[in-house]
Amino acid sequence: MLVMTRYFGLSLILMSLLLSLPTVARDEYAGARQAMLKSIEEHVKETSLYLDKEALNPNVMKVMGQVPRHEFVPASQKRFAYQNRPLPIGHGQTISQPYIVALMTDLLKVKADSKVLEVGTGSGYQAAILSGLVDSVYTIEIINPLAEQARERLRRLAYNNVHVRTGDGYYGWTEQMPFDVIIVTAAASHVPPPLIKQLKPGGRMVIPVGSRFMTQELLLISKQQDGKLITRQIIPVMFVPLTGEH
Ligand code: SAH
Repeated sequence: MLVMTRYFGLSLILMSLLLSLPTVARDEYAGARQAMLKSIEEHVKETSLYLDKEALNPNVMKVMGQVPRHEFVPASQKRFAYQNRPLPIGHGQTISQPYIVALMTDLLKVKADSKVLEVGTGSGYQAAILSGLVDSVYTIEIINPLAEQARERLRRLAYNNVHVRTGDGYYGWTEQMPFDVIIVTAAASHVPPPLIKQLKPGGRMVIPVGSRFMTQELLLISKQQDGKLITRQIIPVMFVPLTGEH
């Protein structure tokens, strides 16, 4: 009987070892991702006077802890993927800093049934973060190879409610309007009127506005039921410029 128990115990240990092996291999970045969350939390605390809060929505932090940022950066950047800073993604563009992605997502106050427009797909990372929180994401990228790469990546990683289009996001996505929330991830000199038009009454837009290549102000714009806009300045930020003919 004693022998049996020992044998049973040993096989249990072996089994749990075997079970834990593939988990380690599956997510070698899990530790780095947790460290990234800590860094975002600290950054939020440091900027709490701007944000008027000490912590971001737990649901937002949860998806930030799930989306594999290393899949959204070029191979040469993978080892930096979970540092709390922007990284180059080619074509002179960047994937935004995780703190900024989390903050913008938090400000949008999305719901499970929200229909979202993003201007500036870039790597597709921000769209992937939103994907887990909303009904659908429509995202526009002006640089065709980036749009194609993001579309392919999002499909491979099964973010099936994200739709990518190449085009000038200044004009929004008329066929899919109106949107519950709009997020612009490139710096505009002004708030594009077509985007205001495509925002539902009661909707929210987050957009960096200011001059190119200098710091901009991150704006939160709420559209009232009567169509009036309330604009709140959140925090100085630095984004790549919104380009295009407009
Ligand atoms: N949200 C992205 C980062 C955006 S960087 C991410 O998560 O990776 C800003 C992106 O906006 C760049 O890829 C840039 O090419 C794109 N962009 C600039 N002007 C644009 C415009 N008028 N319409 C659509 N995309 C634009």
